[in-house]
Amino acid sequence: MVKPETLKNINEIRADFPLLNKSIYNRRLVYFDNGATTQKPQCVIDAVSDVYLNYNANIHRGVHTLSDLSSAAYENAREIVRSFINAGKREEIVFTAGTTASINAIAFSFGERYIKPGDEIVISHLEHHANIVPWQMMCQRKKAILRVIPINDNGEIIFDEYLKLLNSRTKLISVSQVSNALGTVLPVRLIIDAAHSADIPVLIDGAQGIQHGVVDVKKMNCDFYVFSGHKIYGPTGIGMLYGKEKYLDELPPYQGGGDMVDKVTFEKTTYNELPFKFEAGTMNYVGAIGLGKALEYVLDIGRDNIAEMEQDLLKHATDKLSAINGIRIFGNSENKIPIISFLIKNIHQYDAGMILDKMGIAVRTGTHCAQPVMDRFGIDGTIRASMCFYNTIEEVDSLVEGIEKVIEMFS
Ligand code: PMP
Repeated sequence: MVKPETLKNINEIRADFPLLNKSIYNRRLVYFDNGATTQKPQCVIDAVSDVYLNYNANIHRGVHTLSDLSSAAYENAREIVRSFINAGKREEIVFTAGTTASINAIAFSFGERYIKPGDEIVISHLEHHANIVPWQMMCQRKKAILRVIPINDNGEIIFDEYLKLLNSRTKLISVSQVSNALGTVLPVRLIIDAAHSADIPVLIDGAQGIQHGVVDVKKMNCDFYVFSGHKIYGPTGIGMLYGKEKYLDELPPYQGGGDMVDKVTFEKTTYNELPFKFEAGTMNYVGAIGLGKALEYVLDIGRDNIAEMEQDLLKHATDKLSAINGIRIFGNSENKIPIISFLIKNIHQYDAGMILDKMGIAVRTGTHCAQPVMDRFGIDGTIRASMCFYNTIEEVDSLVEGIEKVIEMFS
């Protein structure tokens, strides 16, 4: 149940998100695709339009009033992000286009700086393609080797197998905080501690972790942390990359252009200080400002409250769905966020997804950009209901009723 210090009840929370009032096929929308992207509260929509209505100007480059205002708002957003993940310094917060862009940036720069033929990078079998392909590309470029931590039938990494992968050639670990396909929360603290005892840095893909609880990069002690704004109620096209200063200092920039430079001549260019060394060209400052507002909104609701509301939803949904005859849930870890990935016996996931849509229920079907996870379970996709704190128990019950109708139609 929601703790008393929560300022808003669920109806007030839902009223903050205009799109949740929408009807689809004359049914009130039930939005269970939050793992793919989240809806936006009015305050974020307002913050974005406020830039365009009142102070839009390119950042960091002008002496005029509007440019000062937009630069200050952009840097204020950086400070909000810093404090939200409890990073030590603003220099350690680099804005990017999102999680994918952040991982590609590190894969490129880290590869250039540290990776030699025969070196090894470790990821897990739970990863999203965004945390697989950039490392494969880097390994190809640098003649390095990609190692994969296996998972068990519950969809959890096998920790002993992880430990066996660590050796003197291991140069970086890159794993998700939470699996987007199954909802499994990975034991990132244990993963990081084990890696650090062998002096190996760790990147945490927080695309599905940032929005479901308190993230403290100092406590976690990760070396890199990345996430996307659109998954935490912020705009699309903005995300961030946290890196410990010692690494960001040493890494070469991955893009060249305006703003990331100190002095440019045709013979030689010197780079700007952190974090600007990694922010080439016109940044998505409007997105960053919107993201800052989204994080403030989340803090207003309370991250512990959010986690608690979401665990209530997860428990209710798991109990109800697993009681339906013919449903198989993939990802049965004790430690999950409110994602339920499932299949209905003898019914293709696309058929089920399309029929649920006709009932106003938005779920995602397919491989969820995690084909290796699907291969591990010998399936070609699942139906994924991904919930968040603005969803309700009644909406879960609508999903259950919807699935029962789908089963009835096919029987
Ligand atoms: N990693 C994980 C775990 C994800 O869930 C996602 C998005 N589904 C990504 C990476 C990629 O995020 P984006 O598309 O916002 O770059």
